[in-house]
Amino acid sequence: MLKIKYTLLMTLLISAVAPACYKYAYDHTQVPWQPFSTGILSDNIPVLCYHNISMTGGKEDVYHISALHFDEQIKILHDSGYHAILPDQLYDYLTQRQPLPSRPVMITFDDTHETHASIAAPILEKYGFRGTFFIMTVCIGKKNYLTTQQIRFLSRKGHVIGCHSYDHPAVTTSAGQQWKHQVDEPVKQLEAITGTTIRYYAYPFGVWNNTAITALKRLGIKAAFQLSEETSSEEPLYTVRRMLVSGKWSQMDLLKRIKKQVRS
Ligand SMILES: [Zn+2]
Repeated sequence: MLKIKYTLLMTLLISAVAPACYKYAYDHTQVPWQPFSTGILSDNIPVLCYHNISMTGGKEDVYHISALHFDEQIKILHDSGYHAILPDQLYDYLTQRQPLPSRPVMITFDDTHETHASIAAPILEKYGFRGTFFIMTVCIGKKNYLTTQQIRFLSRKGHVIGCHSYDHPAVTTSAGQQWKHQVDEPVKQLEAITGTTIRYYAYPFGVWNNTAITALKRLGIKAAFQLSEETSSEEPLYTVRRMLVSGKWSQMDLLKRIKKQVRS
């Protein structure tokens, strides 16, 4: 019953924000974050998710963080012995139990914000980390969003580029199920930009369903990242759960959240 209510709630939420999804500049803050904030992780590996990063600070929540607080959070991960891993490492671990470095953490970014290249990547690199950047391709080159050159540069610096659809419809909607338009073409565009193979996908709004998983497999996606529900025991590679990180969290808050959510 709880699950039905939750699904209904998610459907209402998605319906409420759907008109904005067709624009690249939709506002993520329209989606309440509380239902997502308690969840986990993939098979004991914390996967963090960031969105807006700003130099000047201002609003801080699970979709916004200042450069100062982002730097502090990445620093405490580094100083606490965490090692940033990339999707191939997670995939190899989940499928073949290939060993990971001690205290692995995956650091991901959604929605193509320009500050991912100008602020986030340099901070990650300062601590020897690399991140995974999920791109919605409609935004590329728009004001305040990543350019093709920045995406190429991120890739060449060792970060991983993933797909986050063309213009961010939930895969539970008819717009989101236009797989050629929303997955195949964006993947090909990102492959042309980076010269790499794009094999990882983040669900818009973090919401997934089995129809989408079938389509993603057919299109060659190796793993997909969500936000909203427990990792599916049937499809763990296509329901890797991520944790939205709040800009309000202190360094200790972040460590506590990670430790709490990683099953021992
Ligand atoms: Zn998004």
